Amino acid sequence: YVTVSEAGAWRVLEALDGVDGDHAAGRVLAACGRAGRTSHSGGRGETPDGGEPAPLRSDGELASERSRLAGPSLSLSYRDPVHAVRGWMQWLYAADGTAYLDAYNNVPHVGHSHPRVADAVARQTSLLATNTRYLSQVRLDYMARLADRFPDPLDTVYLVNSASEANELALRIARAATGRRDLVVQQSGYHGHTTTLVDASPYKADGPGGEGTPEWAHTIAIPDTYRGRFRTGRDDDPGGRYAADVAELAGRLAQEGRAPGALLLETFPSVGGQIVPPDGYLEGAYRAIREVGGLVIADEVQTGLGRLGSVEWGFQTAPVVPDLVVLGKPIGNGFPLGAVVTSRALAEAFDTGMEFFSTFGGNPVACAAGGAVLDVLDDQALAANAERVGVRLLDGLRGVGDRHDRVGDVRGMGLFVGVEIVADRTDRAPDAGTARRAVEGLKARGILAGTDGPDGNVLKLRGPLVLTSSDVDGIVAALDDVLHRTAGGAPDG
Ligand code: PMP
Repeated sequence: YVTVSEAGAWRVLEALDGVDGDHAAGRVLAACGRAGRTSHSGGRGETPDGGEPAPLRSDGELASERSRLAGPSLSLSYRDPVHAVRGWMQWLYAADGTAYLDAYNNVPHVGHSHPRVADAVARQTSLLATNTRYLSQVRLDYMARLADRFPDPLDTVYLVNSASEANELALRIARAATGRRDLVVQQSGYHGHTTTLVDASPYKADGPGGEGTPEWAHTIAIPDTYRGRFRTGRDDDPGGRYAADVAELAGRLAQEGRAPGALLLETFPSVGGQIVPPDGYLEGAYRAIREVGGLVIADEVQTGLGRLGSVEWGFQTAPVVPDLVVLGKPIGNGFPLGAVVTSRALAEAFDTGMEFFSTFGGNPVACAAGGAVLDVLDDQALAANAERVGVRLLDGLRGVGDRHDRVGDVRGMGLFVGVEIVADRTDRAPDAGTARRAVEGLKARGILAGTDGPDGNVLKLRGPLVLTSSDVDGIVAALDDVLHRTAGGAPDG
């Protein structure tokens, strides 16, 4: 009799055992009307190891110390910055105990602090961390598993420490293979923070403090069918027309004797405003560059590894295969890891006699992290989750658009989503102020989002792939409420 009545209690205990303590406390308190607060961390410093609490300093004190120690060109997000001390799946916890639903960060691809990734890193770091000049089963396993996720002829993998490094390496391979230096890049494109990549990133070079793109970087339009030159519902075949512009530029450059070595393209422009490339665009643009002997480098840092839901890589939304694919950020789930995946032929062209070596690139600890990310992604079917939850988010946001005329456009795929905020739907005038206030309003409701796009008016939503249906329902309801209050003139939600 006793064991029968115990059975349910054990089920509850076992279920609770799988739930993070901070998260459970936050949810219980939220249900009691103390939204987003957990009591256990209040009044203590950051002591995830349970050791002596650090003396607690106010966020204001931290911010002024930061200003003293860090260079002034490093920015902080939000009017009142978040002092994040802990992450768990789609949740970020601040020092004051506030639990934030993370609808913004894409690096924690399979969830903040995923225990399988953390365990893999801990195990490998206590075993061995060396470089690529030694044989390593861990590295080979990771390279093979990554290469297996790409179509032919992409079968060769280089591992580095960041997406910036991966883009740099892709450019070097393209230069070695074509002997050309000229590049075609996209307006508002972003590829990294190194000297060459800032020049090749119009988002930086043509942005505040930039010196303009150099003469070797030739800019094409973002294929934005809401705000750009060719628009859905107004122009026939906008994708084909944007691609025709690429062909026109490539043809002109070839005639001038400076045919481009490569087209460097974020497959779905992200800082450019969460753009979904229109039908016909990618295949047209790829063809245009290849017709003049150039290569295509697909920067899949934002869109790779299942974020888009129904495809593993952004380029698979069109009948194309790039020559080089650049990966970073999410593939290590927070552990530094970047990759270039290319064909054997291009890798051989890059074998010029100069050794390629990166001290930390491809170290076994990074490979263990990358392997664990693939394990979790597959075992938890997170791409399918991104697809399901992403459709629900887009549907919900479109509903918000039906109720608020500040919403000009809702677009995206999987958990790569943008909401364009406008002052006026007729002329589509961008409204960065309302977008910024909406982000602050969401934060006040415990949700982290951001803004982007050339006019700073696109709400950017692209959180970890473990977001649930109820999470996205919460995001939709919060945005609805924020816009309702903003329209009523209330300041900052
Ligand atoms: N490419 C794209 C598309 C990116 O979004 C970023 C970073 N935001 C990078 C490259 C550079 O990544 P990292 O800062 O990790 O070098």
